[in-house]
Amino acid sequence: MISSSIKPFVLTRDFYRIRSLAKSYHNNSSKNIFEIFNQNKTGVKPLQNEYEYDLAVIGGGSGGLACAKEAARHGAKVVLFDYVKPSTQNTSWGLGGTCVNVGCVPKKLMHYTALIGSMKKDGEYFGWNSTSKEREDATFNWEKLVKNIGNHIRSLNFSYGSSLTNANVEYINAEAKFKDTNTIVYAPPKKLDLFSSTKNNDGDEDKESLSSVTEEVNAKYIVIAVGGRPHIPEDVPGALEYSISSDDIFWRKEKAPGKTLCVGGGYISLECAGFLNEFGYDTSVAVRSKILRTFDDDCADKIKELMGSIGVTFLSGKVPKQIIPLKSDDDADSDSKLKVIFNDNDEEIYDTVLYATGRVADTKNLGLENVNINISNDANGKISTNEYDQTAVENIFAIGDVVENKPELTPVAIQAGELLAKRLFTAKKSDGSKNTMKMDYDFIPTTIFTPFEYGTVGFSEKDAILKYGGEEHVESYLWSWTTLELEASKRLKHGAADDLDVIPPNCFAKLVCVGENERVVGFHFVGPNAGEVTQGFSLALRLGACKYDFDRLVGIHPTDAEAFTAMEVKRSEIKSKDDYVAVGGCGGGKCG
Ligand code: FAD
Ligand code: NAP
Repeated sequence: MISSSIKPFVLTRDFYRIRSLAKSYHNNSSKNIFEIFNQNKTGVKPLQNEYEYDLAVIGGGSGGLACAKEAARHGAKVVLFDYVKPSTQNTSWGLGGTCVNVGCVPKKLMHYTALIGSMKKDGEYFGWNSTSKEREDATFNWEKLVKNIGNHIRSLNFSYGSSLTNANVEYINAEAKFKDTNTIVYAPPKKLDLFSSTKNNDGDEDKESLSSVTEEVNAKYIVIAVGGRPHIPEDVPGALEYSISSDDIFWRKEKAPGKTLCVGGGYISLECAGFLNEFGYDTSVAVRSKILRTFDDDCADKIKELMGSIGVTFLSGKVPKQIIPLKSDDDADSDSKLKVIFNDNDEEIYDTVLYATGRVADTKNLGLENVNINISNDANGKISTNEYDQTAVENIFAIGDVVENKPELTPVAIQAGELLAKRLFTAKKSDGSKNTMKMDYDFIPTTIFTPFEYGTVGFSEKDAILKYGGEEHVESYLWSWTTLELEASKRLKHGAADDLDVIPPNCFAKLVCVGENERVVGFHFVGPNAGEVTQGFSLALRLGACKYDFDRLVGIHPTDAEAFTAMEVKRSEIKSKDDYVAVGGCGGGKCG
């Protein structure tokens, strides 16, 4: 663990070159030093001597890091660029991309913090003494949360930097741009800082770090792994200036969010609304159409019902029309509040407005025009690739969030990056054929952490009906229940009228099946640890499991996931919602 007081570890590009040169020279003293300099750690010569590098990767996030390290492991000489442009609110961070700095990692830690909050209340029922009985009484230390998560992220930034060094990948902390199909230009930093790019997370501008001198490198292959950034609509006056995004929320130490409006009904808005609400902040979500519009309808409705029951307010059909700060610029000391005027002319005052209205690929300043790569859609800036991640230019590839029509998920970026590196740099297979294994985008599991987790893999019921030719070819099995622990502790709704006013059943399961064999093509679970549960079951879907296989599976008791071994209520036989809601029982099990 790196403490925030430790000064950033600073390395220069020359340091890397000299260090690896010295290491190689020591091990190969009979060879010509220039020959050695052109070798990498594994001793494999660069594939194309006319290029300085075999591979240049632009972007040190999930996909870029994985691709660079995998390529180096297979003997390629690799350089990786990573540079973070500050957010609209001037937040910046270190090496590792979205996931570690402003995505999955801080989000999951805040999700965990939210779960601790509600479990503390359940704990009282089971004998834990607590001083604060009501959520309104609880004091939450936002500053401490952000500081400690920030420290953990800095330690990850550091380990990512070390892992590049260990893999013998050269890391350049600079914004890369295409000059031509094999050449990248960049303004070199005067020093390399693993923890921040243009400024540190405490907000001090590091004016010394960038130089105006342009340098260039060339490489046989180039991988674009620049990811995406939050999109805040430009047509809402005040939104860009005064709202924050997921790029800011995890680093905003100086001011607790307070009463917050989350704009958007997707993953990020709901996840942020969920943890902020659980920390005790008055939280609303402005939803343009429907929450989780592209997911299974029953599961989206369940998430809305559950989040509503713990205090999140959903503003359906409402979006901000204008955001006005209620503090004048010369009134710097007063607490700034924001007046939001909605599309229906309603007005409300918030401490924070957080936009989570989708993300756009970070391709604007990449110099794509210099290599004739067109972005496929001006609105999202994404790049089209073929099934081998190749762009319109033969030696240039793209992976991760920057690619059009692919899931924006960390494990997707990682696997695409590793497979690409293997295809480019592994020796031929034993039968002499080329390694052609490509990314399989079918049955990719995902989970939304709201804090009621919703895990899913495969098709939603409505998408299966569309894909498989109508309702007559699709049967769904549904079940809903309250997890054993909550049934016992009687977790109350937010603002419960009495001790019987408990939250609705917190678990929901659905299997979407097709054809005579009832092959399971959609798995949906709302419930505790849905991420873990869905990860396991997703293998069954990939292997082509049918409903019969789920029925033959023996449950683990008492768990919620065992419900999937005993799904009996068919969509075609349901007359009312009560038909698939358990009464009593023991969580997901069949006993009782
Ligand atoms: P990124 O990780 O975004 O990395 C791109 C890197 O390239 C960045 O460091 C960027 O600064 C850098 N860069 C850009 N342009 C240049 C340039 N010209 N030169 C040099 N460097 C450049 N996914 C999950 O699977 N699970 C989750 O729970 C999850 N939660 C999320 C929560 C939030 C709030 C967000 C925003 C995302 C979440 N995601 C989650 C999505 C996940 O973070 C992304 O899918 C993943 O990070 C994409 O990886 P990538 O390599 O494509 O891009
Ligand atoms: P998203 O899931 O695509 O949702 C965007 C939301 O914003 C939608 O509800 C959309 O409404 C709404 N919206 C778009 N433009 C709007 C506007 N102008 N005004 C009001 N609302 C608007 O995007 P996201 O939440 O930003 O997340 C981006 C991606 O990151 C996700 O797709 C996901 O792949 C990844 N991610 C993953 C996780 C995870 O794995 N747990 C967590 C966070 C993020 P409509 O439905 O009406 O279009």
